[in-house]
Parts: sequence; structure tokens; C-alpha cells
Amino acid sequence: MRVGLFGGTFDPPHLGHLVTAVNVRYVLKLDLVVLMVANDPWQKHGTRDVASASDRLAMVQAAIAGVDGLIAGDDEITRGGPSYTADTLAALHERYHGAELFTIVGDDAAAKFGSWQRANEIAKLSTLVVVDRPGSPLMPPCEFNWHRVEVPRLEVSSSDLRARFIDGRPLEYLVPDQVMQVIAARNLYGSNS
Ligand code: ATP
Repeated sequence: MRVGLFGGTFDPPHLGHLVTAVNVRYVLKLDLVVLMVANDPWQKHGTRDVASASDRLAMVQAAIAGVDGLIAGDDEITRGGPSYTADTLAALHERYHGAELFTIVGDDAAAKFGSWQRANEIAKLSTLVVVDRPGSPLMPPCEFNWHRVEVPRLEVSSSDLRARFIDGRPLEYLVPDQVMQVIAARNLYGSNS
């Protein structure tokens, strides 16, 4: 079995995440891509408030409902504490009985890979996959082997979407309708104020 791990804060999930997941799955012939919701994204500490893990998981579940080969992962939430990819890969390896694992990241995340906890272990446990995001291409650290996959580049980020909520700019088509429904039902990002 070939399983992709696509981890993120997903605050909120958007079309960039989904288009990346389905295209990497197609190109690398993965059986599954797990959109793993970070419990405590320690790399974002001190930068801003993050929506609760259960709200972010509910949004990811809504985003991928009915999409073949994509699942929402709650392992990091269940484990609690800071989210470390090496631990998550070990859990997936056990669950999927020795599956071949792929760690999927955008080039912004890949550029910081050297600062990830236990980066060498992640590189040993999985094939590292990088996709480009709009803007100047960022180079991943060259001491690791990267597999580059072309996906449509969509100029969308969770930060921009949160700013759109604050300013009242349109979010339609950038965030799936099912996710918008979760946001409204849970009153996230000041959606009902
Ligand atoms: P923020 O703007 O809050 O930093 P984000 O949009 O980068 O959030 P994350 O949840 O932090 O979203 O990202 C999870 C993963 O998805 C990262 O590897 C990131 O590089 C990748 N990613 C995010 N947006 C895109 C996009 N538009 N295209 C491709 N990959 C993306």
C-alpha cells in the first residue's frame, strides 16, 4: 500500500490543500492521502491564535467527504501535545502494516524542513514530496532527497482566508461549501458576528 501524509494546521482547509492532495495522489499512484490535522502546530506558536483542533478536524472531514482516496487524520489530536511528523509516520506505518509512506509538503514548509524535529528520521521513514506554491519557488534543503510533483498552483492560503473573514471579502470558491457550513455552524473566524 502507498500512503501519503499531508499534514497541516488547516485553519481553515482550502482548495490549495485539496487540489494538492488529489493531484499528488494521482501522480504518485497513492492508495490514500491522509490530511493530518496538527494538534498543536508548535511551529506557529506565538504567531497567532489557532482554531481548536476539533474545529479544524471537523472542517477537514467536511472538505474531503465523498472524495475518493482522501481521509482526515486525527492521530496527532488523539496523541495530544505538540505534533511531530516522525511519530505520525510511525503510527501510519503500524496501522497500514508496513505501507510505503510519502510526506507531502508545500515548498514553504519544505524550505524550513531542516528545523523540523527529527528531520532525518522523517526522511528515513518516508519519501519526501514537495509541491510548488505561487510566488518565487523556495528551495528545500539539499541534504535531503526531494521528489517534486507538479500541481496546479493556486494562490490561496489559510492566512489570506482568515483576513478575508475579517474584512468581509468573498470566500466563495476558495473554500468548499461544506467547510463554509461548518464555519458558520461553529461560528469560527467571527463568521456570525
Ligand atoms: P497559513 O497561511 O495559516 O500559514 P497554509 O495555507 O500554509 O496556512 P497549512 O495548513 O499551514 O496552510 O499548510 C499545510 C500544508 O499545505 C503545507 O505543507 C503547505 O505548504 C501546504 N499548502 C498550503 N497552501 C497550499 C497551496 N495553495 N498549494 C499547495 N500547497 C499548499
